[in-house]
Amino acid sequence: MRKGKRKSAEVRDKMNKAKESGRFEPVSLHPYIDLNRCSCIGSGACVRAYPEQDILWLINGKATVINATACIGHGTCFHACPVEAISVRIGTEKRGVDLPHVKPDYETNVPGIYIAGELGGMGLIKNSAEQGIQAVRTAHNNRPEQSEVEVDLAIVGAGPAGIAAALEAKCLGMKAVILEQGSLGGTVFTFPQQKVVMTRPMDLPLYGPVKLVNTGKHELLDIWTDAIEKHNIEVRERHKVDAIHRAAGAYT
Ligand SMILES: Cc1cc2nc3c(=O)[nH]c(=O)nc-3n(C[C@H](O)[C@H](O)[C@H](O)COP(=O)(O)OP(=O)(O)OC[C@H]3O[C@@H](n4cnc5c(N)ncnc54)[C@H](O)[C@@H]3O)c2cc1C
Ligand code: SF4
Repeated sequence: MRKGKRKSAEVRDKMNKAKESGRFEPVSLHPYIDLNRCSCIGSGACVRAYPEQDILWLINGKATVINATACIGHGTCFHACPVEAISVRIGTEKRGVDLPHVKPDYETNVPGIYIAGELGGMGLIKNSAEQGIQAVRTAHNNRPEQSEVEVDLAIVGAGPAGIAAALEAKCLGMKAVILEQGSLGGTVFTFPQQKVVMTRPMDLPLYGPVKLVNTGKHELLDIWTDAIEKHNIEVRERHKVDAIHRAAGAYT
C-alpha cells in the first residue's frame, strides 16, 4: 500500500515536471483517458505495452497520461487495453488543433465531402483504413442518380485511409482517383526504415485479410502498391490539392 502511494507521488512529480516544461499538452496524436467516464480497471496493460518511457502510468490504480508529447501515435496502449478505456486523439482543449465537423457516417458539414483517418482526429493505420472504407460506403449511398463527371470520387491523400477508400470505391464500381502531394503510403511512407510498425489485422477491399501485427513499413507499402496496381487505381503522386470548388453539382 505504502509502495503504491510512493509510486503515485513519483508519477505526479513526473507529471508536474512535464507541465512545467510544456510537454503535457500535446498538439498531435496521444492517448486519451476520459477520467469522468473512465472504465479503467487498473490492469496496467497500457503502461506495460508502451515502448516509450513515462507516457502513461497508474495513479491510485487508474491509468493516467503523464507526458503525452512523447507519444508517437502508434496506439499500442489503445490496442493493449482489455476494456477499451483508452482512445487516441489529436490535440487537447487548451492546446489543440481544430478538427473538422464530421458526422458519424464521415460526411462533413459540407455535403459531398467526407473525412476519414487522422484528419478527423482519430488516427492509427487500421482505424484510418476502416474509416476510409466506411466513408466511401456513405459516399456511394449518397451518390447522385445521374451525373456527368470525370470521376465519382477524388480522394485527397494516399495514406492508409485513402488507399482503403480507393479500393472500396473500386469494389463498389465507382471511378476514383487519388491525389497525393507526396508518396503512396502517406505517413507510413515517411516512417524510418527500421521502425517497427505496430498494427492489427485488418481487411483490405479487393485484397483480403492483412494479417500483419509487428511489421516493417515496406511490408505494408508492398501490399498497398500491389493492390493499387492490380486494380488499376490511378494515383497522382506529387499532386497537391490547394482548393476545392463546387460548380454545377460537382466538385473540382
Ligand atoms: C512517427 C509515427 C509513428 C507511427 N507509428 C504507428 C504505428 O506503429 N502503428 C499505427 O497504427 N500508426 C502509427 N502512426 C500513426 C499512423 O501513421 C497514422 O495514424 C496513419 O498514417 C493515418 O492515416 P491517414 O490515411 O489518415 O493519414 P496519412 O497517413 O497522414 O495520409 C494522409 C496523406 O494526405 C496527403 N495530403 C495531405 N494534404 C494534402 C493535399 N492538400 N493534397 C494532396 N495530398 C495531401 C499527405 O501527404 C499524406 O500522404 C504513427 C505516426 C507517426 C507520425
Ligand atoms: S490497460 Fe486499460 S484498464 Fe488497464 S490500466 Fe491501461 S487504461 Fe486502465
